[in-house]
Amino acid sequence: MPLEIEQFPCRDDNFGVLIHDPEARATASIDAPEFQPIVDHLAERGWGLDTILVTHHHADHVEANLTLKTAYECTIIGPARSVDQIPGIDKTVNEGDSFTFGSYDVRVIATPGHTLDHIGYYLPTAKVAFVADTLFALGCGRVFEGTPEMMWGSLEKLMALPDDTMVYCGHEYTQANAQFALTIEPDNPELVARAKEIDALRAAGKPTLPTTIGREKATNPFLRVDEPGIRQRLRLEHATPAEVFAEIRSRKDNF
Ligand code: ZN
Ligand code: FE
Repeated sequence: MPLEIEQFPCRDDNFGVLIHDPEARATASIDAPEFQPIVDHLAERGWGLDTILVTHHHADHVEANLTLKTAYECTIIGPARSVDQIPGIDKTVNEGDSFTFGSYDVRVIATPGHTLDHIGYYLPTAKVAFVADTLFALGCGRVFEGTPEMMWGSLEKLMALPDDTMVYCGHEYTQANAQFALTIEPDNPELVARAKEIDALRAAGKPTLPTTIGREKATNPFLRVDEPGIRQRLRLEHATPAEVFAEIRSRKDNF
């Protein structure tokens, strides 16, 4: 039986994500953005909560850690780097670590940049990655604690995952990201079509995620720093990929 994944809105624009292995009867929450919606979705599915997989220390990702731990006695796993900043953390993980969730292998990918502690969780047999605030649909996280070079290195790691990997992100920012993406690559037909699709989904009140690595590689300007058309538009024909990335990130910060 395949891994079951439940995605739902939390807070203003965060996503809650629950994963459930029906054979092992194991359930994990990716981050803990808000107590009540997570509890409601667990109850609706008849699931307990065994584990919280924390991606980084920001409050909108760990706020419900302690309340969920009290309610479910779940184990909280998170990045070793910010052990002091993650409420209730029981077990720390680092780049390259792997552990099992039910019958699934979970691999830890360090993706610093947005924060220094940021990690993603990749389940190769389920072909799914939880990347939180590193990669968004048509965008990427703001670089708060790291450098653009560091963030670019993290995105390169995610780009190396198979194209058909399903990608779940921390926020529903896609519509605004699409507006910006069109200023960087207005003549990418796939991007133009995707932007229309996104408008239709949002108008219907539907989420634009998950996405896939392949889809992002084809349309997300932050991953397309080697495209001659983008380099020409930015007048960065001879720059390194990290420099092109830094320029696109700074334009987005001021968009
Ligand atoms: Zn964040
Ligand atoms: Fe966030």
